[in-house]
Amino acid sequence: MDTTPDRRWHRIADALRPETRLLIDGQFRAAAGDETLASINPATGALVANVACGNAADIEAACDIAAKRFRQGVWSRMPLRRRTDILIRLSELIAENRDILAVLDTMEMGKPIAEMCAIDVPGAVLTMRYMAESIDKIAGSAPVTNPDALHYILRQPLGVVGCITPWNYPLMMAVWKIAPALAAGNCVVLKPAEDTSLSALLLGRLFLEAGGPGGVLNVVPGRGAVAGQALARSMQVEKIAFTGSTAIGRQMYRYAADTNLKAVSAELGGKSPQIVLADVEDLSTVAAKVADGLFGNQGEVCSAGSRILVERGIHDEFCELLAAHASRKYRPGDPLDPTTTMGPLVNKAHQGRVLDYIDGARKEGAMPVIGGDPSDCCPDATCFVAPTLFAGVDSRMTIAREEIFGPVGAIIAHNGAEDAVRIANDSPYGLAAGVWTSSLGKAHRIARDLECGMVWINGYMNGDMSQPWGGWKLSGHGRDKCLQALLDNTQSKSVWVTLD
Ligand code: NAD
Repeated sequence: MDTTPDRRWHRIADALRPETRLLIDGQFRAAAGDETLASINPATGALVANVACGNAADIEAACDIAAKRFRQGVWSRMPLRRRTDILIRLSELIAENRDILAVLDTMEMGKPIAEMCAIDVPGAVLTMRYMAESIDKIAGSAPVTNPDALHYILRQPLGVVGCITPWNYPLMMAVWKIAPALAAGNCVVLKPAEDTSLSALLLGRLFLEAGGPGGVLNVVPGRGAVAGQALARSMQVEKIAFTGSTAIGRQMYRYAADTNLKAVSAELGGKSPQIVLADVEDLSTVAAKVADGLFGNQGEVCSAGSRILVERGIHDEFCELLAAHASRKYRPGDPLDPTTTMGPLVNKAHQGRVLDYIDGARKEGAMPVIGGDPSDCCPDATCFVAPTLFAGVDSRMTIAREEIFGPVGAIIAHNGAEDAVRIANDSPYGLAAGVWTSSLGKAHRIARDLECGMVWINGYMNGDMSQPWGGWKLSGHGRDKCLQALLDNTQSKSVWVTLD
């Protein structure tokens, strides 16, 4: 067997010369100010790039041009087939540039390259293609009305849509936001997260290469409190499509209320339960899948199944199986090695936050099953945290209530379906949930009673483009991916025609 490490991805990384300037009006240009965003590779501590840091003036310039292009109709009134073709071509260009896009995100935020290739890049391609193909499926209506009138209702684009995205799926989240906005005919200003701007800038270049007119998609990296706030407060923006934390999501509604009452869609944090009932047939397979639902992407997933609710009768056996699977599969390693299943967390500050949660869990009396020892994590410049599980958790403990956004699971014992639903719903969040059972009746009853936007039965985090992605409660409002996401980027106009 050939045991030579696969260096292919390192070679691509070494050869990278990423674009670091802002994209405004079809031109890459320097930021108005001198500040840069240092993009640091969390697996090594090395500098990836210094990215131009847009400020409020840059955002205003991007919004000005986006509004101008919208009024000119260069995109919204382009023949539909042409707009579709450009976005289909963009999806092809994302696929053709898959290796570079994958390496950019892996270098900036530490996601294993294997995940980029299996999930993020294909997800971005599919989303862009789906939205492109859906353009001519948007339909108004003509309700039956009085004989002396004709009433028809149009669906029209909003104008300028501001997209603000997080760092955990940099490319895919950017595409989830820009694809429906562009497909519906809007012009876009995209502000990626501070740590992860490079794939968004390449996406902007690919849009131009696909034939997209300048100024229709603008990409302005910058700080959230400065550029993000300026975008969300801009009087020229008709909608903010936001994915990020609940705390900043709240801000979006405030900004909208204080300015032009723009529409807000907010996909926010979660604390999702995975419910395991004692009747599951193959406990070991379920334990492996539950581990995947928790530790994929280092647990930096909004829908991570981080509360594991296990029926008392199988609790101890399940904990052992879960710990064994997690320890075997999820070993932190070099994210550019295609065999690595777990990379570092995004940055030092976030690593510190996750370690504080682990420390706090011990102090609150939770029992470590695996991980949880700071010496498992590299104390140097890197940002790794080993997979960590706590048992003996109850719903009042901080690790059961707050989103940790790292590889930390809280195992909670329950007394059957009804009790599991009660515990699952005892959370301010309501993004997703998993149910593992061989009882059809129990599965559907639990799915009906859970307070969340998405439920997976005997699986976790699977789905396709038809799936409305979004939450209830503090997990936000708005739906990504599905046809609704496209409609949410339009507004209705009623036209009443007097016939006599
Ligand atoms: P974050 O809220 O800190 O930042 C998200 C974006 O908002 C970034 O671009 C940031 O620069 C910007 N921002 C920060 N402060 C701002 C301000 N005052 N005004 C305007 N913009 C501002 O979130 P994060 O740490 O980048 O991402 C992690 C969070 O995202 C987690 O809570 C996770 O659950 C959530 N998330 C949710 C989904 C979903 O679909 N529900 C998907 C992915 C991530």
